[in-house]
Amino acid sequence: MIKARNINKHFGSLHVLKDIDLDVQKGEVVVVIGPSGSGKTTFLRTLNVLEKPEEGKIKIGDQQLDFTQPISKKSLIQFRKQTGMVFQNHNLFPHFTAMENVMEGPVTVQKVRKEAARERAAEILTKVGLGNKLEAYPHQLSGGQQQRVGIARALATGAEVILFDEPTSALDPELVGDVLDVMKELAREGMTMVVVTHEMSFAEEVADKVVFMDHGNIIEEGTPHQVFNQTKEVRTKQFLNRIQ
Ligand code: ATP
Repeated sequence: MIKARNINKHFGSLHVLKDIDLDVQKGEVVVVIGPSGSGKTTFLRTLNVLEKPEEGKIKIGDQQLDFTQPISKKSLIQFRKQTGMVFQNHNLFPHFTAMENVMEGPVTVQKVRKEAARERAAEILTKVGLGNKLEAYPHQLSGGQQQRVGIARALATGAEVILFDEPTSALDPELVGDVLDVMKELAREGMTMVVVTHEMSFAEEVADKVVFMDHGNIIEEGTPHQVFNQTKEVRTKQFLNRIQ
């Protein structure tokens, strides 16, 4: 489903992503972990080209971008359609209701008719447990509920892959569980997901593959059991010891 090769990205003189390769199969949940500043978010953002690497190729579904070549606006738009993104701070429009936030992408980007978009938005919001909050504005929702609207918005695009950038790290601890439950349900349903998170229990429970990054490198990847219990990598051990 996703094939990233040789991804290199600098911010000025800082080499943030160093020859990153990653494969994600359809229906797989890949969780990216690693110390702060290791490049996790930057890598995730390259997958829908919110950050443009200077070098490398990314194939998602049947669309491929080669970052050493000029990229047309049209192919960028096509490419981006395949992924939905859930941000740490959900980035909801404050003056739109939950429903309007979820409808916005389908109506403005995909030109879906309003009635159909409304119906679909209600369905998805119900699925994430917000069937009774369709007309609520973001400020009337808890952080966890807002984040679930963020997930609903990503789902409404119809994207085949959902990218999660630390979706629970801005939440009060008691709100984290509801958001993780929605993500677990999506995983069970076979959604392809790439998740940057510090929630190791989520990684252990849900991930098909855990990827450990440090200083812009993928140090290792494997099943949760391999990475959490059987690692031979010193840097992984140090990281896991620090966070336990
Ligand atoms: P965290 O877990 O703290 O979110 P991360 O592993 O996701 O960290 P990134 O956010 O990808 O790390 O950042 C990698 C490095 O790139 C950091 O040193 C960061 O300061 C730097 N960086 C990120 N975004 C930018 C930017 N827009 N401009 C300059 N430097 C940046």
